Amino acid sequence: MLRWQEEAKCAGDDPGRYVLDEEPHRVPPAQRGPQARALCDGCPVRAFCAADALDHDDIGVVRAGVWIPAVIPGPRGAVQRALLAEAHRRWR
Ligand code: SF4
Repeated sequence: MLRWQEEAKCAGDDPGRYVLDEEPHRVPPAQRGPQARALCDGCPVRAFCAADALDHDDIGVVRAGVWIPAVIPGPRGAVQRALLAEAHRRWR
């Protein structure tokens, strides 16, 4: 485990809580964005998490307060922009 992962809000949490389209933690599609933001709200390592998600092209999971669907209709640009914005937030 990397140092930033040890400081994550979700450290020790059930990883299934971050997969919003599968039981037992399935969330209706319209609520997945707000749920993702709520899960990661206040996490001190969101920037690292966003960069890591981009590096590994993560899908089907919440990362850095962003729900990344496994199947995205159309280009993935919106999700990538949201993750990049989070990744750069600490340099503002
Ligand atoms: S931003 Fe969210 S998914 Fe990423 S480490 Fe923090 S709590 Fe976990």
